[in-house]
Amino acid sequence: MSDTFVMGPRADFACKKCGDVIPDLPVACVRCPICNSKRGFFRLFNAVNVMSGKTYKVGKFLDKKLTPALDLKSSKEQGAKRFETAAQEALEKAVEKATPEQRAAADMPVAKDVKYQPQMVGAAAALGMLKPHERADNRQYIWPAIKRHLKPIWHDKK
Ligand SMILES: [Zn+2]
Repeated sequence: MSDTFVMGPRADFACKKCGDVIPDLPVACVRCPICNSKRGFFRLFNAVNVMSGKTYKVGKFLDKKLTPALDLKSSKEQGAKRFETAAQEALEKAVEKATPEQRAAADMPVAKDVKYQPQMVGAAAALGMLKPHERADNRQYIWPAIKRHLKPIWHDKK
């Protein structure tokens, strides 16, 4: 083997004469390596990385279709950025124009929102909070539905 040997692109081929698929041959192959026939010997485009003309066409079509949406998205992002910088500038201007009293009032701490704190309630306590008829509903309908032990309405009436 020479030093300049390079493994080129390879593909599967099919031969009509042999009725067989010959895998992993160089792309430039013209004749069947088994029966040496040229006619009916053709390349198969079944490899994952092979991009056929169809794939190219699909990509082109999608590009064309998606261009307006992508343009809209980028313009929206640009608009949002512009709005943010404009708001920052307006705030700085307002701070510059404000009187010392106004600045002092703006620096006063504002009462923060009370944070929502989840309360952990046990199952028994949760059931205890229910009213009797709600417990009956829970026992009769909700729990059987959760456990998939559904009985038809006429079940008890037999
Ligand atoms: Zn062949």
